[in-house]
Amino acid sequence: MNEATVLSTVLAGLYIDGQWRAGGERLTVTNPSTEEQLAIVTGGDARTVDEAVQAAQAAFGAWSKTTGAARAMILRKIASGVAARREHLMALQSSNNGKPGFEAAIDVDDVIATFNYYADLAEAADGQQNRAVELPSEAFSARLRREPCGVVGLIVPWNFPMVTTAWKLAPALAAGCCVLLKPSEVTPLAELELAQIIAGSGLPTGVFNLICGTGLAVGAPMSAHPGIAKVSFTGSNAVGVQVMQRAAETIKGVSLELGGKSSLLVMADADLDLAVELASGGGYFNAGQMCSATSRVLVAQDLLEPFLQRIVAKAQSIKVSGPLEEGSEMGPLVNHAQYQRVINHIEAGKEAGAHLLCGGKRPTAQPRGYFLEPAVFSQVPLDSALWREEIFGPVLCVRGFSSEAEAIALANDTQFGLVASVVSGDSETADRIANALHAGLVWINAPQVIFPQTAWGGYKQSSLGRELGPWGMQAFQEIKHVVRAL
Ligand code: NAD
Repeated sequence: MNEATVLSTVLAGLYIDGQWRAGGERLTVTNPSTEEQLAIVTGGDARTVDEAVQAAQAAFGAWSKTTGAARAMILRKIASGVAARREHLMALQSSNNGKPGFEAAIDVDDVIATFNYYADLAEAADGQQNRAVELPSEAFSARLRREPCGVVGLIVPWNFPMVTTAWKLAPALAAGCCVLLKPSEVTPLAELELAQIIAGSGLPTGVFNLICGTGLAVGAPMSAHPGIAKVSFTGSNAVGVQVMQRAAETIKGVSLELGGKSSLLVMADADLDLAVELASGGGYFNAGQMCSATSRVLVAQDLLEPFLQRIVAKAQSIKVSGPLEEGSEMGPLVNHAQYQRVINHIEAGKEAGAHLLCGGKRPTAQPRGYFLEPAVFSQVPLDSALWREEIFGPVLCVRGFSSEAEAIALANDTQFGLVASVVSGDSETADRIANALHAGLVWINAPQVIFPQTAWGGYKQSSLGRELGPWGMQAFQEIKHVVRAL
């Protein structure tokens, strides 16, 4: 894989009604490994949001009436277009996000799987439309229809830009909705490439529109626009609240995928090597910039000391380098703001009395770029920000527990509830704990594998609704019952 070509020209960041447009605002996109400018992308505003919504509304009539089979054909074309551009999309993710090659490959393959999965679902939906509903009366009959909810707004963050886009875009198109997508202003390059692929997929003009730009210039008017029936948002809780507030003005449907403060529970009968591997993956994948990061590691008291020794050794062995360097295991954080935010959390944690056992500083071999050595903390006070808030960086907080009940209570003691992991040698114990955890997805002795067939989303303040699986498509559909007197 080669470094994505540095784009010296200004890239048009608006795709509206089948046309690329330059827009007004100029957004600088940087390479987090070098701190150098990677591209300039133009952004939109409230006026262009309105134009895109009008184009999508004009396309909706015809697109909403296409069969699932017709939509499936286009979704599969997009999937194969992504597969054909796999190496280039990986390179863009490495240059713009700092993802090492193996992580960029996981992202692109997930996108392909997601489009193919929703192609299958769209096709299957044809056979289920107008399904008869059993009624307790012979005087009436009823049939059930699922219809696309209209023009939808998709707002995505920077940490898994392509994946988050695919999880929203594929089910929205499968459902028959028309779309306005807003990438993160930090990482728009992969979505711009995806838009080129979509433009060549045979999707009718106006069904898919994209506007790059900042949250205030583009995301805010999308959230409030009366022509958008639903907003599907992934990002921070603070912005999620603003999206919900603006959407309230027009009683718009909203689904939210927000933050997390998830736990990995290492039970007394756990395989310690496996626990260390899973803790490392759960804390340091994507440089810890994961809503699903299991940044709290709860370890049975008898295993605490050996676990700490091994996780520190593991953290210190991770190769932190430019993502395209041979053997790179962890790239930089996405930008200076994120780097500084994580450093601030680390400093505040130390001041609160937590023990930093390793990492948490710039690697000496990397004088430039937003690189951070993976950190392990112990003795983290339960009321500290380090323990309670989402860090979104390569930082693990390890704590001992003396009973299963205490471990579950510690894991559930957060306003979030996205995911959790359990490591145990006993399947009954692991199942019992999984059932007691307040989380939308629990992995047992497994890395954070995600399949399009299983739901994504969490409890409490982590989510509103679920993505992926049939739920991901239902989120973009209205339910209609037609009842007839016989
Ligand atoms: P962010 O909330 O700052 O931005 C997310 C998106 O919202 C961006 O496109 C941004 O431009 C836009 N935005 C900003 N202000 C807006 C406004 N006022 N109105 C509408 N849109 C606006 O989040 P981020 O920093 O890009 O991403 C990190 C956050 O995303 C973390 O909190 C992480 O937990 C969360 N996240 C959650 C999931 C999940 O599935 N639960 C997945 C990935 C990331």
